[in-house]
Amino acid sequence: MVYCSNCNKSIDLRNKTIDTLITYIQGEKVILTYVECDTCDSKLYVQIDNDETKQILEQLVKVIDRSKQDKQNMDKLRKQYKRLNLKLSNLRKELREQYEGRKVWNNVILNTEPLTFSIK
Ligand SMILES: [Zn+2]
Repeated sequence: MVYCSNCNKSIDLRNKTIDTLITYIQGEKVILTYVECDTCDSKLYVQIDNDETKQILEQLVKVIDRSKQDKQNMDKLRKQYKRLNLKLSNLRKELREQYEGRKVWNNVILNTEPLTFSIK
């Protein structure tokens, strides 16, 4: 469950469309994942990625695909999956900390509200 940082209403993510926004913060390309609050239309940012985390995500998908076919190497693949998944969540956490509070350019208007993540 996520709470709107603007109006404090709870938002059930299961019924929400999750959108992404590719933007630049201080010259660095980032991909922000967000949902919109039903009550006040605020964008609630729930995830941040960059090229590095996207690459890890691609590797994760490959490991999942391989594990469906390659039953003999299950243990090895499971370990790989765990390692990549941990790396991914650590990097995303670092990115959240790095960009929290920065101004976001959303291609249409300059959002003057600082970036705040709804998931910590
Ligand atoms: Zn709201």
